[in-house]
Amino acid sequence: MKTKAIKHIFTPPPFHMVGDGFRVHNFFPHLPEIGKQGMSPFFLLDYNSKVMLSPTDKPRGVGVHPHRGFETVTIAYHGKVAHHDSAGNSGIIEEGDVQWMTAASGVLHKEYHEKEFSKKGGAFQMVQLWVNLPAKHKMSKPKYQEITNKQMPKYELPNNGGHIDIIAGEFNGLKGPAYTFTPIEMYNAKLKKGATIKLNFPEHYNTGILMVEGNATINETEKAPADHFVYFKNEGEEITVTANEDSVLLVLSGEPIKEPIAAHGPFLMNNMQEIQQAMIDFNDGKFGELAD
Ligand code: MN
Repeated sequence: MKTKAIKHIFTPPPFHMVGDGFRVHNFFPHLPEIGKQGMSPFFLLDYNSKVMLSPTDKPRGVGVHPHRGFETVTIAYHGKVAHHDSAGNSGIIEEGDVQWMTAASGVLHKEYHEKEFSKKGGAFQMVQLWVNLPAKHKMSKPKYQEITNKQMPKYELPNNGGHIDIIAGEFNGLKGPAYTFTPIEMYNAKLKKGATIKLNFPEHYNTGILMVEGNATINETEKAPADHFVYFKNEGEEITVTANEDSVLLVLSGEPIKEPIAAHGPFLMNNMQEIQQAMIDFNDGKFGELAD
């Protein structure tokens, strides 16, 4: 098995605020080295690195806004997020949980820190991914998957080396609960100091690892510290990860969707005409209703 070559290990880019609740580093599509197409099928990676939040009675977050043409995947590492959408779905994303919202033809939603968590304050750390949909599913019915940590199969490493939570795809015969429209592998690897894992993804899959916590050596040579993003070439299959301290890694790999991309604000379509239609439909109230 040939080693999957590393293209680059990125330090976190300067943060920006999403609403007043999310202080995010955007690794893509912002970084020119990755490109405006993102890392297909993953179009966007916003990383709220760990921050300590002061207590507040007024939850911080993002107010009502639309999405069309893709899925938002929110992964909670610290803190809690409450979510409501115009398809009638709502829920609280707790530590270790994942919310997989298929906006597809269009929803309105809002994302706020959960009320009781806001009152207490404390550590907050999240990831939001935008997963693109192929053209034939962009106008499908919206859907919502609430994936609790308990629902994720856990691959236990030998010698108390930690475990791997499988969110989507398959690792060593264990299948993740997320339904995906295109082939996607997504795991949280929670490794103890000294543990080594081997990952295998097809050469043509786009692959990256976000270092959520700790410090790891990738492919026995490159050091990846916390909050860095390891971006791989489409070359080779096997990745070796050794944790130099207790570490948490978000592993992402997926088959690229080879279709044109037209991205504008909260819409991700195949051409500008579809973007314009999304704006018209949004202004005509076709994304439904959701109170502030
Ligand atoms: Mn959103």
